[in-house]
Amino acid sequence: MAHTNASPRTNGKAEGGEFDAIVVGAGLSGVYLLHRLRELGLSVRVLEAGTDVGGTWYWNCYPGARCDTESMFYAYSWPTELRQKWTWTSRYPDQGEIQGYISHVTDEFDLRKDIQFETRVAGATFDEAANRWAITTEQGETFSARFCVMATGCITKPNLPDWPGVESFAGDTYHTARWPKDDVDFTGKRVAVIGTGSTGIQAIPIIAKHAEQLTVFQRTPNYAIPAWNGPLDPEYEREIKDNYDKYWDMARWSSTGLMYEIRDRSIFDDTDDVREREFEDRWQQGGFSFLFAYKDILTDRNANELVAEFVRNKIRGRVDDPEIAELLCPNTHPFASKRLCVDTNYYETYNRDNVALVNVRGTPIEEMTSTGLRTSEESYEFDAIVFATGFDSMTGALFNIDISGRSGEKLKEKWADGPRTYLGLGTAGFPNLFTITGPGSPSVISNMMTSIEQHVDWVSDCIEHLVREGMQTIEPRVDAEDDWVEHVNEVANTTLFPEADSWYTGANVPGKPRIFTPYVGGVGTYRKKCDEVAANGYEGFVLA
Ligand code: NAP
Repeated sequence: MAHTNASPRTNGKAEGGEFDAIVVGAGLSGVYLLHRLRELGLSVRVLEAGTDVGGTWYWNCYPGARCDTESMFYAYSWPTELRQKWTWTSRYPDQGEIQGYISHVTDEFDLRKDIQFETRVAGATFDEAANRWAITTEQGETFSARFCVMATGCITKPNLPDWPGVESFAGDTYHTARWPKDDVDFTGKRVAVIGTGSTGIQAIPIIAKHAEQLTVFQRTPNYAIPAWNGPLDPEYEREIKDNYDKYWDMARWSSTGLMYEIRDRSIFDDTDDVREREFEDRWQQGGFSFLFAYKDILTDRNANELVAEFVRNKIRGRVDDPEIAELLCPNTHPFASKRLCVDTNYYETYNRDNVALVNVRGTPIEEMTSTGLRTSEESYEFDAIVFATGFDSMTGALFNIDISGRSGEKLKEKWADGPRTYLGLGTAGFPNLFTITGPGSPSVISNMMTSIEQHVDWVSDCIEHLVREGMQTIEPRVDAEDDWVEHVNEVANTTLFPEADSWYTGANVPGKPRIFTPYVGGVGTYRKKCDEVAANGYEGFVLA
């Protein structure tokens, strides 16, 4: 995998400093934000914990890591020359290629000099007298900035089970979101993978090819649609590149941020035969196209069950052993109410002699031992254990930072019963603090690239407005925030999403309040609302 060499910290020692804006995180959001804010003539410093840009894509370099949004839809729209010049090799880009792309953009726009790597932000405190944020780092620096933007990502903080005995295991352990940059060789090893979400489903087929024996521990089977990945079709690429603005505009105003739309047709408008053919077509197209077949897949339980059963039958057809196939068939949650997975040879992997599946739904893993794992039923021995156990998502990265707003109010306390934001962009009592793809915005339920650009553009325009108008601060009004939170919940409750114990709801992390946080009202609808808010003098915000 291509990987750009790490850049050193820019100043080499703990210094801190005064800036117009501090951006936390140098992923896809932080990099674009730096470009936009620098264009406004602001002094900006990006603080990044890793040794390179990339954010989620920097950390998640596990075997098989690949984006399940198509490459032609997974790039910035802003460097107009670059979007013509850049050529993706395959339909779905792998982690190395995306990392290479982000690095390339960073270098092309000479952004690296304003990014300070190996710097983990520990705290951010609003000084009401000065109207400035004091941002402290684990390395002992303090930065002062008028604006603080959290470009910290939605799936940043790894979720690790708190089983006893973790330290006693004598073999190697890996979390997929903290994968070593050096190659990991599983040849001749007995390996366990825990977790069968999007990550596990990508990593398992690759690890199975190298390990002597692979045992997969599955708590909840997931729905996966084939990627049918392959080299990017040059004709298709040409079509998109020739009409880039048209397609990008479609994406911006669509419901999901992708360049196609959900069909305005109910599943019940078709006969069984027609519906089956539609499903089969979508299956052959692969990936998320399945979700766009009918408008009621995610709102009507009966409609959803028709798709779910189609997918289960596909699983039964792909797995030789009928008992294993049944174990792999999801039946605890509606189709796509957890993030839909996109796979390459995932189900076929269970036809290999060196792969075993252990169902831990009724018999949970209870501890790690010096030689492996013990479930409530049996002990297993391994040389290596891979945690594909996901993330403390949406709020995890923000809560890792000790954030205090007006009167010393802690963000963690304000959000103890679930995140409260206005438009996912900011929260009352925390002036000049912005979140990119924060809770309450379409974020993870949409094409992240589209949503990242929209948020970065909105925040940059807002900061430009404040500077131009000589305003010191902006923050959401409490009533606007309350209304928005209520609206986000209302819209979510018209769908099947809240039914699943997913990371969208926080149900994957013990003790976390169960709230469905992304806004599912549609990317275009959301963009219109944000545009109107700005056009109406930042309606719902207090500007001082
Ligand atoms: P995830 O979807 O949360 O899956 C975590 C898996 O670990 C689940 O199967 C979960 O089981 C299991 N697990 C967690 N704790 C466990 C425990 N104590 N015992 C047994 N099993 C346990 O996380 P992920 O797979 O890392 O994916 C997260 C998100 O990242 C995706 O939904 C997607 O948005 C993104 N992602 C994208 C791509 C891509 O673009 N291709 C690739 C990877 C990830 P339960 O389901 O029972 O909780």
